[in-house]
Amino acid sequence: MRRIDKLGRIVIPFELRRRYGLTEGVKVEFLDAGEGITVRSSEPFCKVCRSRICDGATFPLCEACIAKAAKRYNERN
Ligand SMILES: [Zn+2]
Repeated sequence: MRRIDKLGRIVIPFELRRRYGLTEGVKVEFLDAGEGITVRSSEPFCKVCRSRICDGATFPLCEACIAKAAKRYNERN
């Protein structure tokens, strides 16, 4: 449980920040989900290493992780 302070602020648990790439300076958006609020990063991040990726990226991966995946793929085939 987290308590909201008098200014309406709340601390997002570390594990959730890490999992969703919510590092300092990342913009988030609040979505009214009917039964509660969904907080979502408005900036895309790599699903493997959590670094930020550019808007409009074809895959949800950074270039370094795409290169690693391609290398592994080429080693197997
Ligand atoms: Zn990555």
